[in-house]
Amino acid sequence: MCYSIYEKVSGSLMYTQFLEKRPSTNGIGLFTKMEIPANVPIFEATGPIRLLEDLPDEVNDIVIQVGPNTFLGPAGELGDYINHSCNPNCRIHVVGNRAIFYSMYVIPKDSELTYDYSTTSTDSLEEWSIQCNCGDYNCRQIISGHQYLSDSKKQEYIKKNMLPLYILYPNMFPRKFKGTK
Ligand SMILES: [Zn+2]
Repeated sequence: MCYSIYEKVSGSLMYTQFLEKRPSTNGIGLFTKMEIPANVPIFEATGPIRLLEDLPDEVNDIVIQVGPNTFLGPAGELGDYINHSCNPNCRIHVVGNRAIFYSMYVIPKDSELTYDYSTTSTDSLEEWSIQCNCGDYNCRQIISGHQYLSDSKKQEYIKKNMLPLYILYPNMFPRKFKGTK
């Protein structure tokens, strides 16, 4: 039998089958059915790749930015349900147009998986923002592009390898379609 590399990687080599959707404080969230080790790939987000200029407004809160001009999803699958947290337990590793979620530390069974939406977004407040309900002591409340993170938070995220290349080196990966949405 012949499998694509994609099926092999996204299916059997990660923790996809140990995750499930459940009600959370933010509607539906993504939860662990077992303890997840630290620093491992948990699952891969899937879905169509779209350019910023082709992105319908109604999917704006669901898609994941994976490049200066490219967005992944929605897929109707796990990646659509992972909620934002200002103190996340996951980070996204962007490789080309692929987005793989990694655990940042040991995540106990029955935990909600979260990532910081600002680690992948270059949107301005005018283009996209959400209200955060994470309730943590350092909750930023209004979540938008990475440029609104505090300097200390940016440094923390750089040290933890949470920011993709298009955010670390914006001059090398310019946004081409700004304002055309
Ligand atoms: Zn928050």
